[in-house]
Amino acid sequence: MNMYSESLVEGYGQTFSIDNILFEHKTSHQHLVIFENKWFGRVMALDGIIQTTEKDEFIYHEMLTHVPVLAHGNVKNVLIIGGGDGGTLRELTKHQSIERITLVEIDRSVIETCRKLLPKHSDGAFDDHRLKLVIDDGMNFIRNTGQNFDLIISDCTDPTGPGKVLFSTAFYQACKERLEASGVFVAQNGVPFFQPEELVTSSRKLRALYTDSSFYGVAVPTYVGGLMTLAWATENPALRKVPMEELTKRYQSSAIETHYYSPEAHRSAFSLPGYINNLIEY
Ligand code: SAM
Repeated sequence: MNMYSESLVEGYGQTFSIDNILFEHKTSHQHLVIFENKWFGRVMALDGIIQTTEKDEFIYHEMLTHVPVLAHGNVKNVLIIGGGDGGTLRELTKHQSIERITLVEIDRSVIETCRKLLPKHSDGAFDDHRLKLVIDDGMNFIRNTGQNFDLIISDCTDPTGPGKVLFSTAFYQACKERLEASGVFVAQNGVPFFQPEELVTSSRKLRALYTDSSFYGVAVPTYVGGLMTLAWATENPALRKVPMEELTKRYQSSAIETHYYSPEAHRSAFSLPGYINNLIEY
């Protein structure tokens, strides 16, 4: 039987059995593979790192989107950097109150291949009339856009290859300049058990730039190593402390259907265990 092995660190990794390779191609930016696995369904990997699977993607995508949207309470204009599989876009389009979504993906092949082979990820959201799709480097886009956003989501790869720039001070600064006054920046920030340096450096950079920066945790089975962290940064500290009653009211009136997100999961995600908190500069 064919196997797919991923290793973030020397000496440990995870292995998937491959039932069927659906796509494998060296794009102009990265090595893209989509294969089928009995447990996780269709699995997408870039440059040897698992990006998303049909079975557990809802956990990551719901928490990356609904936490900032519902904490903010009045998001109209969103920017997604990366996110070519469409999962983040799908969750955002559930909010009827959002008026505009710009998705900036560096690699057109990821979008085209995922639309074909991971159709449940976007579930038609690439055809949503609110979407503006841009094929560009996220750093280049954010430096040159004249638009401001209520929410910027960095749904990127790890800080190697094309994703590296999306963890730089220059990128965090450029995002801050393009946020509305109460705007929020969130970003995938790796699994601290295996990638502690990523959390140390991102927290230091964000803390130096934003009035309120923090991280929240989410356990995604295929991002092995326990909790992964999602970065949170804003000029409005009140957004992290929206009372439960208000979050519940917003959640109910949004009428979105979720399988992981709940107002309780939202609030508790910001309570991180000691070994993770110790890596963060507050
Ligand atoms: N959920 C995944 C994870 O954390 O493992 C990440 C999702 S994957 C769709 C991330 C996407 O970011 C990829 O499609 C990749 O092409 C895109 N990307 C990487 N660097 C980028 C950049 N500099 N600008 C825009 N998109 C980028």
